[in-house]
Amino acid sequence: MTELLYLPDADDVTEFTATVTDATDEYVVLDGTYFYPEGGGQPADIGVIEWDGGRAEIDNVRKDHGEVRHEIGRLEGDVPAADTPVEGRIDAERRRALARMHTAQHVVSRVVLDEFGASTAGNQIHTDRSRIDFEPADFDDDDLERIQRLTNEALANDYSVRKENRAREDVEREVDEGRSLLHLISDSVDPLRVVEIDGFDMCPCGGTHVDSLGAVGHVDTLGRISKGKDTERVEFTLHEP
Ligand SMILES: [Zn+2]
Repeated sequence: MTELLYLPDADDVTEFTATVTDATDEYVVLDGTYFYPEGGGQPADIGVIEWDGGRAEIDNVRKDHGEVRHEIGRLEGDVPAADTPVEGRIDAERRRALARMHTAQHVVSRVVLDEFGASTAGNQIHTDRSRIDFEPADFDDDDLERIQRLTNEALANDYSVRKENRAREDVEREVDEGRSLLHLISDSVDPLRVVEIDGFDMCPCGGTHVDSLGAVGHVDTLGRISKGKDTERVEFTLHEP
């Protein structure tokens, strides 16, 4: 079992120490990690794990049941034995880009729910652009402009972003329909990690996010495409704050 140390609110940590619990020439498992394993529409962190006598460049991180496998792109030295102490270093620039994008996704999702009554059916975050699928939705170009304007107004308000664990029954009661995706989260997960943008939005989410909306920057909607009768995909990018 690997402890996900970035949860609930340490998603700004990119350097840490840990202990190897299992390793091969393909992956390293630690007792705890700050690396984000891919999932929920967010790609994994990449970075480096170093130990006395060796070094592994990590080019993907995946959950395998309770274990987090840091997949090795390039290995220097021997595979580390169990109990070896290591230092982990996450690519901080990339992590920051993904955290900004993921936080922007929450804001766009909330704006679209409030203005158009459409839920977020799925999303895919990247460092340079992201997309969200909305249902039921059928936007035109004016709608897209309105989404961009309202998103940027919210970002300019620099609301704080709080991340914490809450009892599942409280989350089920408090979360707005259309922002929960609770059907995707196994019933056994309790408490849930929630991300709350002060006075604006709250939803359960295990991804990485910034601490206030001012860090996100400025959203540019790139376009929309219809993905079926009632589903509309919106793409956006970010400019630095
Ligand atoms: Zn999120």
